[in-house]
Amino acid sequence: MSEFDYDLFVIGAGSGGVRAARNAAATGARVAVAEDRYLGGTCVNVGCVPKKLYSYAAHFHEAFEDAGGFGWRLPAAPEFDWATLRDNKIGEIKRLNGIYGRLLDNAGVRLINGRAKVLDPHHVSVAGETVSAEKILVAVGGWPWVPDFPGKELTVDSNRVFDLDAFPERFLVLGGGYIAVEFASIFNGLGSDTHLVYRGELFLRGFDREVREFTRDEMAKKGVNLHFETNIEAIEKVEGGLKVTLTNGETLEVDAVLAATGRRPHLEGLGLDQFDLATNPDGSLAVNERFETSIPSLLALGDVTGGPELTPVALAEAMQMVAHHFGDTTPEPLDYSRIATAVFCHPNIGTVGLSEEQARERYGAIRVYTEDFRPMKHTLSGSSERCLMKLIVDDESDVVVGAHMVGEEAGEVIQGIAIAVRAGLTKAQFDQTVGIHPTGAEEFVTMRTPARR
Ligand SMILES: Cc1cc2nc3c(=O)[nH]c(=O)nc-3n(C[C@H](O)[C@H](O)[C@H](O)COP(=O)(O)OP(=O)(O)OC[C@H]3O[C@@H](n4cnc5c(N)ncnc54)[C@H](O)[C@@H]3O)c2cc1C
Repeated sequence: MSEFDYDLFVIGAGSGGVRAARNAAATGARVAVAEDRYLGGTCVNVGCVPKKLYSYAAHFHEAFEDAGGFGWRLPAAPEFDWATLRDNKIGEIKRLNGIYGRLLDNAGVRLINGRAKVLDPHHVSVAGETVSAEKILVAVGGWPWVPDFPGKELTVDSNRVFDLDAFPERFLVLGGGYIAVEFASIFNGLGSDTHLVYRGELFLRGFDREVREFTRDEMAKKGVNLHFETNIEAIEKVEGGLKVTLTNGETLEVDAVLAATGRRPHLEGLGLDQFDLATNPDGSLAVNERFETSIPSLLALGDVTGGPELTPVALAEAMQMVAHHFGDTTPEPLDYSRIATAVFCHPNIGTVGLSEEQARERYGAIRVYTEDFRPMKHTLSGSSERCLMKLIVDDESDVVVGAHMVGEEAGEVIQGIAIAVRAGLTKAQFDQTVGIHPTGAEEFVTMRTPARR
């Protein structure tokens, strides 16, 4: 009989924590999990899920406009009701919270509602109880971070933006990451007069340059007011709204400001400061390939370890951790390259593998294939939205090392292409694939002439 209450104590019932708890329990391990806010973590409650639901809501705007060219006459100009969207979203998330609770319960995992604190490498205190465990998994995720400026307290962060009391007719997003561009598209689509303010020269740093520029142009066409190379100097309350002064001297009056200025590991009050654990340069917890911190009984995974901050990554890490610590065989190390990802701005971005800039740096010679076209749907809809597709090929091996798309359902399309890129298929094999007609995605197998080398 083990000297500990549990084999594994998980702190945080988010994407990584729940998957780790369930999978460990399935091997026969005795598992408990502590959660102090919401089952399902960031993704379910204030991340992927509500964000995608709001993105769907925002797309209806265009759908109504596009419908006219196909013969549909709407009886009156459609009106958007924020409270209906928000409250339906709340109902759906409650349903998902219940599912997560049942998943843990059915797996035989004990759930303790409360904020956990690590007392020593084998003890945790939570909800007035001290619990011992052979291994403690820190899966606490991240938390929004906002820089200091006068009026910072008047902003909302991505945790709060979903539940605003009133719909902001005038909306400003500060930031240039994927969360910022997604919310700018969402509120623009829902009907807000929307501004995006970013201190850099172009948003979505790290993505393919052509993709970033194309997205900038498409978002601007849809009416998002983009302000680059400037920042918020101050925000003050004025009659009927918020006055935002930018560092370039411009002032804007809006109803809400979303600070989408980054996320930090959620380590406050967790009790880890006492250990002097090794960290990465960004303050996230450093782990080895078994997901052990510098104290081997303290494990960590997901956003708190500073890898790609994506739910499927947290899930993969959880399964990998369980295989290492509770499985019979040592798994191959996780391969973090060629992880596909989407940005749900409008139009969507889907991407896998290297950007053109990264490929140029890594390989001696590359071929770049691009298609920039008006999708068939928009021949009748009248919309000026365009679609970009792009393949990047290592010239020597002919392997497709990057695939990018900006256009409707880009995430859905790139998920399929990602399998081919991950499998290391060549451009010749892409070319041998007979396309599906008429689709936009068929362009990925019909691009024959390089746009440049
Ligand atoms: C606005 C937004 C949109 C996103 N969109 C996407 C997307 O489209 N696709 C995608 O793949 N990813 C997306 N993400 C990222 C994704 O949500 C995260 O990568 C994922 O949730 C990380 O999982 P995790 O298990 O590391 O942490 P989390 O899911 O954040 O879970 C951590 C949990 O730990 C709990 N906790 C923290 N401290 C304690 C404590 N001391 N005691 C008890 N419980 C504690 C928290 O309450 C939380 O429930 C988005 C994130 C945001 C913010």
